[in-house]
Amino acid sequence: MPRPIAATLSLNALQNNLQVVRRHSPKSKVWSVVKANAYGHGLARIWQGLQQTDGFALLDFNEAVLLREAGWHGPILLLEGFFSAQDLKEVSHYGLTTAVHSHWQLDALAKAEVSAPIDVYLKINSGMNRLGFHPKEAVEIWQQLRAISQVGEITLMTHFASADGPEGINGQLDKMEQGTHSISAPRCYANSAATLWHPQAHHDWVRPGIILYGASPSGRADDVANTGLQPVMTLSSEIIAVQSLEKGDRVGYSGRYQAEQSQRIGVVACGYADGYPRHAPSGTPIIVGGVNTRTLGTVSMDMLMVDLTPCPEAQIGTSVELWGKQLPIDDVAAAAGTLGYELMSALAQRVPVRVSA
Ligand SMILES: *Cc1c(COP(=O)(O)O)cnc(C)c1O
Repeated sequence: MPRPIAATLSLNALQNNLQVVRRHSPKSKVWSVVKANAYGHGLARIWQGLQQTDGFALLDFNEAVLLREAGWHGPILLLEGFFSAQDLKEVSHYGLTTAVHSHWQLDALAKAEVSAPIDVYLKINSGMNRLGFHPKEAVEIWQQLRAISQVGEITLMTHFASADGPEGINGQLDKMEQGTHSISAPRCYANSAATLWHPQAHHDWVRPGIILYGASPSGRADDVANTGLQPVMTLSSEIIAVQSLEKGDRVGYSGRYQAEQSQRIGVVACGYADGYPRHAPSGTPIIVGGVNTRTLGTVSMDMLMVDLTPCPEAQIGTSVELWGKQLPIDDVAAAAGTLGYELMSALAQRVPVRVSA
């Protein structure tokens, strides 16, 4: 007798979203970013929905091996690079492409025993100040890499900090241009936001993640409403109990919600231990029996409460959508002060997952 909660994943939506990416960047190859277990969807479950991609980008070595053993022979990019010199044997064995972002990695490459040259992504820090070489070093590092026989093709890579916002990418693009204009090599700069909104950054390869799963890089559902993107994950459950409140009654831990009049509320089998955000306040949107309503009170570990005033027919067994086809994950995330990225990648292990066409 399982709890009624489940996450349903649509492989059709995933395929559709890859087509949306291709329509936006028709001249670029596509790295489908599947890090963090495919943003919580389960890499093993969904990678075949992305078989039309040109490559998979991730950062966990185990995930790369999973793809190879599952039968993916195409490119795989390690976005964070390799973590120790010993890793290079495996990088070479599995035919992985790796980011190179620090000086020690050049020494490691030059000393590595490899079965075939390793393709590398030369990561330039154009302003994010996370990973990468200073743009002023780009030419020198590129020349050093070219002189290492263990290194195969070299692609220039950078990552944008604000491609989804008003600041945009021009400052970072200028730095890339200043540092790398003399380098003749393929380029890969664009995350999801730049794939959708900054075609001047598309170049040879784009690297979208979040839009493949149908959520917005900006966190605002409106921003992707007309792109044709479809949500891949739908998190659903059911009403498992109903309570009738009198005026003044309080709901849940710390009694954070207090009824202003008599009302019916429903108890949903979904809590923060399923991955629903505990910070979602009263008023977070939720769908009960196809009707928009709101959560009430503090989210518990295994349950949350909802207002049944807009849906008087709702009763025990009525379906509930936490996010997905009818309710953008971005809307739930916004109410909880986070992004769809965090919610989907935090889907808990205990939630049963169904894959649909
Ligand atoms: C996660 C990541 C991406 C994808 O970002 P989205 O915003 O999900 O498109 C691209 N490049 C790098 C280096 C990343 O770490």
